[in-house]
Amino acid sequence: MKTTAIVLAGGQGKRMGAGTAKQYLDLCGKPVIWYALDTFENSFIDEIVLVCPAGGEEYCRKEIVEKYGFKKVSAIVPGGRERYDSVRNGLDAAEKCDYVFIHDGARPFVSQYVLERCLHYVKKYRAAVAAVRAKDTVKLENGDGFIEQSPDRARVWLMQTPQVFEYEMIRDCYEKLIRDEKRLEEAGVRVTDDTMVAKMYADVDAKLVESSYDNLKITEPGDLVLASAILDSGRDREKKGFSSCS
Ligand code: C5P
Repeated sequence: MKTTAIVLAGGQGKRMGAGTAKQYLDLCGKPVIWYALDTFENSFIDEIVLVCPAGGEEYCRKEIVEKYGFKKVSAIVPGGRERYDSVRNGLDAAEKCDYVFIHDGARPFVSQYVLERCLHYVKKYRAAVAAVRAKDTVKLENGDGFIEQSPDRARVWLMQTPQVFEYEMIRDCYEKLIRDEKRLEEAGVRVTDDTMVAKMYADVDAKLVESSYDNLKITEPGDLVLASAILDSGRDREKKGFSSCS
């Protein structure tokens, strides 16, 4: 059995408001992207495909992969305009494998436990996704600033990554998605995660794998403060080689 991780770092991270893309920002002495790569490097994953901003391949090779000695990175490929374009490029660059773990490089704290649970469930259900139960009540807007629907909070989950799939199945789905891109755009469908691609083109329902709120995505400046606090607290104990910030 072969497993591959696609680590996505192809975004510009505009919501951070920093000059540097968020995946390269410093988090306790290491770039944000280091943490996810380190987790996969020290896991059962066989191969890592790193997707970086187009034109940044050499920077990533020298300043991230070689500098920190990541041995499992087999390809560094450019990202695309949307997240799903970056995923497609990553899938194309991956060598044939059984299961693929698609992970946001901006999520430093995915745990080995969650990786293992995802592997367990993807073997059974073809798709599995790390997620957390909603703490707050969630509403759907009517598109005009008013509440239209109130989903039952007990059934609301917030999606994280990794999102994990049978490789052939999700690759085929992404091929179909790219062919269908124009129609989706016209219909106003926004593809923001991979489980919806598996559902749309293979009718596969992903198994929800309960993860932790610590598996946050660095999106806004406040998230870096939170991430440093998580490292300082030592909560992510199973990860090796983390030094606290203080
Ligand atoms: O923009 P968002 O926070 O949803 O991005 C999630 C992850 O996807 C980030 O790690 C980002 O670098 C990556 N991404 C990408 N290519 C894009 C947009 C986002 O690889 N075009």
